Amino acid sequence: MSGVLTLGTPPIEVRLKRNARARRLTLRVSQADGRATLTMPKRASLREAKAFVIRQEDWLRQQIARLPARAELLDGAEIPFRGQMLTLRTVAGRSVRINGMVLEVATPNPAARLRAFLKLQARNALLPAVERYAGQIGRPFGRITLRDTRSRWGSCTSDGNLMFSWRLVMAPPAVLDYVAAHEVAHLVHMNHSAEYWRLVADMMPDYADHRHWLRENGAKLHSVDFGA
Ligand SMILES: [Zn+2]
Repeated sequence: MSGVLTLGTPPIEVRLKRNARARRLTLRVSQADGRATLTMPKRASLREAKAFVIRQEDWLRQQIARLPARAELLDGAEIPFRGQMLTLRTVAGRSVRINGMVLEVATPNPAARLRAFLKLQARNALLPAVERYAGQIGRPFGRITLRDTRSRWGSCTSDGNLMFSWRLVMAPPAVLDYVAAHEVAHLVHMNHSAEYWRLVADMMPDYADHRHWLRENGAKLHSVDFGA
């Protein structure tokens, strides 16, 4: 079963999701898109679900109020790029250009243009980082794919293909480098064992700071809405 409960004023929509393995009702708010989901054990009734959500309404509103505001792509919007906040300005003519601390984006479709620009910049930053780290440990890698993933910043398959979120280009350069080192280290260890982390530390001794930055600030990188 799936469905939606609407709660209070202003209305909040709560998506309902059955999960055979769930043991109790769990309510959570996605950092990525601000949507609320109630996970229900198989046998929980809709009435129980409603009562639970009503009891949690105050908590739910607090969680939603605390989410980073969605940055809209309007003139004056602040867009993080390589760890700096640039101010967006839509202009006639050329596609995307960084002019000092101003990010000039042509119309129409500034969101799509900016997305394409960031993806390209991410590739330009990630490819040399991956080459450098893979060279350090003497491992070949396969394809590099860039996506707009919500749940992970990168991944590595057993045949050596790497995937990264292009939103990493919005983070400070060392944070992007850390994710590159993290995935490259999976070319040796497909786990997060102590040996794995030793290898990451060999490649990047201060990796823990960058890992921490991502935990603290990752939601902000996801809060910029590119409309797709
Ligand atoms: Zn990992």
